[in-house]
Amino acid sequence: MTGSTARDGRTFVVVGASLAGAKAAETLREEGFTGRVVLLGEEPELPYERPPLSKGYLLGSDERGSVFVHDRAWYDEQRIELHTGVRVEAIDRDAHTVSLVDGERIGYDALLLTTGSVVRELPVPGADLAGVHYLRRIEHSDALRDRLTDGTRVVVVGGGWIGLEVAAAARTRGAAVTLVEIDALPLRRVLGDEVAQVFADLHVAHGVDLRLGTGVREIVGAGGHVASVTLDDGSSVPADVVVVGIGITPAVELARGAGLDVDDGVLVDASLRTSDPRVWAAGDVANVQHPLLGRRVRVEHWANALHGGPAAARSMLGQEVVYDRVPYFFTDQYDLGMEYSGLAGPGDYERVVFRGDVAGREFIAFWLADGRVLAGMNVNVWDVTEDVERLVRSGERVDPARLADPAVSLAEV
Ligand code: NAP
Repeated sequence: MTGSTARDGRTFVVVGASLAGAKAAETLREEGFTGRVVLLGEEPELPYERPPLSKGYLLGSDERGSVFVHDRAWYDEQRIELHTGVRVEAIDRDAHTVSLVDGERIGYDALLLTTGSVVRELPVPGADLAGVHYLRRIEHSDALRDRLTDGTRVVVVGGGWIGLEVAAAARTRGAAVTLVEIDALPLRRVLGDEVAQVFADLHVAHGVDLRLGTGVREIVGAGGHVASVTLDDGSSVPADVVVVGIGITPAVELARGAGLDVDDGVLVDASLRTSDPRVWAAGDVANVQHPLLGRRVRVEHWANALHGGPAAARSMLGQEVVYDRVPYFFTDQYDLGMEYSGLAGPGDYERVVFRGDVAGREFIAFWLADGRVLAGMNVNVWDVTEDVERLVRSGERVDPARLADPAVSLAEV
């Protein structure tokens, strides 16, 4: 900035210094906002990306420095007032202030909530024993990484993304893994039976002992440390380490306390604005009225933080924003890499069409309803995300035979 340029007198406050919050702050500067940008985070670390925590960082192949969105000097250069390790206690929407736990108040002209989620805790006896891990924060990944060693007996509770990625990392590091999933297949609620089976087969092929259709009754300890896990079916699994990944809940306390509309997340419109015109929300915590899908969605994935934060920032600056991105996420497990675009849970779709080699785990799956593509997943097939997104976005009927035929390019379908 040159000395002759007057600075904007406004203050924009972002509560939640994770990927969505950091990207929002970055976008405010990129878009030329010269006022105060205050970024407040409860965690002691600089904003970081979470995907590596259950993948490369957990495996030890990604350096610690690689997970951070920016280094400390960058925030200073950008005049972003980043405060880590501070908890925002309340929002006063009449006074337009947020108050910190030490009583300090910060006034805002526009406020963005990127408060994210908290892990769901396993409500069984023994869940507080040493050796029981959750995986949400960088220190959780640090603690778990030290325990995933050759021959360690690991019980993973929950066959969602955390459970499967941890199982893959643990097997890769030589641990013996039992995975307990309450549903009939891991990831069934996200992918449906057809594709969930692919992931079940993948883990069995890599030596994971899958225990499906059962929950955990109790974690049994010896000397204050986990020793075994008793399942609902009465069986007992010896364990040195237990990892719980049974989902997350959006961190809405602040929004609820402030009287904002909340229902499975903070309710926002397509411009990511809450029921208060001076307050926005983005990332995991935002339950968005999605114009493309025609309903509310709350997307708990990295790409939504990456793009939602910047969209909210532009909306705060008064730009016309319609947040209608096709939901996207990816995973890496063993030698399987995949990208998923769209949204199609069980009950949403009528059939799954496969293109490619499913047994060889090199294919694209499409979820269809009424002849239209709701979602697509490319498994060990690359550079097709744009084509898949285009099919989802178009909403047009497709010929399933051509969709299944690798000789017909996706653009032609
Ligand atoms: P998740 O994906 O919601 O999966 C939780 C799983 O645990 C579900 O399969 C659930 O079954 C099961 N479950 C629930 N209660 C259980 C119990 N008592 N015993 C056994 N299984 C139980 O949540 P997550 O894996 O904990 O991940 C947390 C968040 O991080 C999610 O939002 C996820 O999307 C995100 N994440 C994303 C990625 C990625 O995109 N690659 C990677 C890691 C994490 P039901 O479905 O039947 O409830």
